[in-house]
Formats: sequence, C-alpha cells, structure tokens
Amino acid sequence: ATFADLGLSPEIIQAVTDSGYINPTPIQEQAIPIVLMGRDVLGCAQTGTGKTASFVLPMLDILTGSRAKARMPRSLILEPTRELALQVAENFVKYGAHLNLVHALLIGGESMNDQRSVLDKGVDVLIATPGRLLDLFDRGRILLADCKLLVIDEADRMLDMGFIPDVERIVSMLPQLRQTLFFSATMAPEIRRLADAFLQNPKEISV
Ligand code: AMP
Repeated sequence: ATFADLGLSPEIIQAVTDSGYINPTPIQEQAIPIVLMGRDVLGCAQTGTGKTASFVLPMLDILTGSRAKARMPRSLILEPTRELALQVAENFVKYGAHLNLVHALLIGGESMNDQRSVLDKGVDVLIATPGRLLDLFDRGRILLADCKLLVIDEADRMLDMGFIPDVERIVSMLPQLRQTLFFSATMAPEIRRLADAFLQNPKEISV
C-alpha cells in the first residue's frame, strides 16, 4: 500500500513525502484507515515500528477544517515521559507542516506561563504528561469538554511509573462520546483492564 491508499489528505501525504517515507509501516497500514473511520484502536506495538505516525497522521486529518476554542483543546495525547511528549510534538510539527493546526506541549520543566497563554489562544492538540496536565486543569486553565479524540501512548510505561490513577482521573473528565486510541508494548492483565474501561468496541492491532 501507499500513504495515498490509506485515505489521508494531500497536505498530509505531502508532509510524509517531505519526510522521505516511501511506504507505510505495518502499524500505519493497519491503524490509519481504522482511525479515519472513527473507530477506537487497541494497538500492541513497540517504539520503532512507526507507531507515532500511525496516530498523529490520522489525527491531523480528523482535526483539519475546524478550530479550537480558548482553553478547550480538541484532542489529547498522553505520554509517560517528557522525552516522549517532545518527540510526539516534533512529529506533530513535521507532519502538520502544510496544515494550520495548533499544539501545546504540557510537560514539567517548561514555563507554566507560556503553557497558559497558548491554552488561552486555543489548542487543537494537547500533548502532555499526566502530572502537568492535572496541575493546569486544577488551576482552571483547561476545559476538556471538547476533547473528543484521546491517545494513551505507552500504557505499560504509564503503569510502571505509577501514573494509572492520574490517567483514570483525566479520562473521567473527557466526554463519554469520544474516539480513543490506546497503545502499549505489552498487554498485561492490568493493561487489558484499562483498555476495557477506556475503549469502546476497539479494533485490535498487533505488530
Ligand atoms: P516510532 O515507532 O513512531 O518511534 O518511529 C520510529 C522511526 O521511524 C521514526 O524515526 C520515524 O521518523 C520513522 N518512520 C515512521 N514511519 C515511517 C515510514 N513509513 N517510513 C520510514 N520511516 C518511518
């Protein structure tokens, strides 16, 4: 398959071509059409498989064409570490180069003032670690009622790092009617239980 076969818009295919990619990886080939259809995904994949683009590319496609209201992000990507969140933000910038979408990176160690001002302007994609997101939420800087697209990435690392209670609290504040993409390198029973709680009729993809 080619990226064009997966149903992505020309602006996104252009960015993928700019990145030097020729063909989608197996997780991209399987996940992208399903995400574009609006379905939930339970993805079992390690880093290095092209997992990031498998959710960032269709998210960009879904979010194109409307704009976020102040303090009301339209989508949320949760990452266990600052480094991973930074990498996802870099991917978002690269793949979104020909689009007009706004992202905010909410991680520890970055200026809370800068994060506040970008939130006030309206953010299409929030890329966050759980602690900093809850911190800003508890200060009243973020409303999650428009956040109808959620990615939980590296769920097994969230578990190892003790972030599951934070993740559960965040998910409980999102709309019930949403699309959720859940990725983990392993599917331990605790991870399965979370996936069952967060996802509705997901397509399971394992690479
Ligand atoms: P990830 O698994 O998301 O961490 O991606 C691993 C690496 O593969 C990153 O450096 C990406 O830039 C690269 N990559 C992602 N998709 C493709 C693709 N379709 N073709 C070639 N390289 C890719």
